[in-house]
Amino acid sequence: MSGRHFLQIPGPTNVPDRVLRAMDFPTMDHRGPAFAAVGTKALEGMKSVFRTESTVVIYPASGTGAWEAALVNTLSAGDKVLMYETGHFATLWNHLAQRLGLQPEFIAGDWRHGADPVAIEERLRADSGHEIKAVCVVHNETSTGSVTQIPEIRRAIDAAGHPALLMVDTISSLASIDYRHDDWGVDVTVAGSQKGLMLPPGLSFNAISEKALAAAKTAGLPNAYWAWDAMAEPNAKGYFPYTPATNLLYGLVEAIDMLHEEGLENVFQRHQRHGAAARRAVRAWGLEVLCLEPRHYSGSLTAVLVPEGQSADAFRRTTLENFNMSLGNGLSKIADKVFRIGHLGDFNDLMLMGTLSGVEMGLELSGVPHRRGGVQAALDYLSGREQTSASAA
Ligand code: PLP
Repeated sequence: MSGRHFLQIPGPTNVPDRVLRAMDFPTMDHRGPAFAAVGTKALEGMKSVFRTESTVVIYPASGTGAWEAALVNTLSAGDKVLMYETGHFATLWNHLAQRLGLQPEFIAGDWRHGADPVAIEERLRADSGHEIKAVCVVHNETSTGSVTQIPEIRRAIDAAGHPALLMVDTISSLASIDYRHDDWGVDVTVAGSQKGLMLPPGLSFNAISEKALAAAKTAGLPNAYWAWDAMAEPNAKGYFPYTPATNLLYGLVEAIDMLHEEGLENVFQRHQRHGAAARRAVRAWGLEVLCLEPRHYSGSLTAVLVPEGQSADAFRRTTLENFNMSLGNGLSKIADKVFRIGHLGDFNDLMLMGTLSGVEMGLELSGVPHRRGGVQAALDYLSGREQTSASAA
């Protein structure tokens, strides 16, 4: 099919040419003198993206590895952890905790909201013996497009006077939705390369507070590949305890430069604006945004419910076959009921309009009942010509 493929799943995202070019160099000796500058720049640069003065580690692994690293470095067999069912990825993290021999307690959610701080505070207040060792939440639930307000979760833990560690998955929010590891009092942040960081898959990260580093000293779960303490010495000189993903690190350094050239605040605003435009398109089509709470709307992606009796997967197939565009699918509980529009990473107004045009044409072609005019509604919003008062951001 002629023309470029539109990769509009909510990650992996489009890799900008600058990042591709930065990786297109011979792989260097990862123990040689030239490498230290790359390693140091990557580690220091990630601190600026996490907004932390504390420790960052980088793994040659997908995000799942960084989930595991967060748990095995800080916890012991049988420890209770409190998790919140925001959607599919929170559920997978919960399964991973079970497999590691932890005792996760899963607060049920409806997959249409971020985590509820009131429910978390209540559960922590009831835990007077402080058996719960960690609270784990997903910042941007990629399966639903709902954002948990992390400062509210921090306040809930503090209000309960509970010492549990706070762990946050930012795999689809870091470098696209505002996030502050230090200011928000997070102990372990988990991230991955393939979304807001505009890289191919293959790197993942932990940002680690002093409190989490202290917990790691007494934690009992076995860990080797994921061990934070093995990182400290080589990382201090810009090296790694094993072979790093050298060329991905070249790309990471470039991607961090790009983020700072644009300015993180501008990056966040760009994503919010595209999210708002996409939601206007969805409403104009007469379809429903999956996230029900405006305060939880995501700047990274928009999950859209198709009308009862319609197949979201058939619509996505038609869109792929006819317009060469990939959209995200509905996962597990919401399989075939939802499609997801990714609008994160290296993305601009024209790319959003191309994407929304593809969705509108795909809806028409696959016979999903809808009204025309979603593309126009998004355009009116982007160009500042919107007439109606903001019914919802
Ligand atoms: N957490 C979230 C929020 C995700 O979106 C994903 C993947 O999409 C993961 C965890 C798992 O990461 P990975 O597939 O890179 O292992």
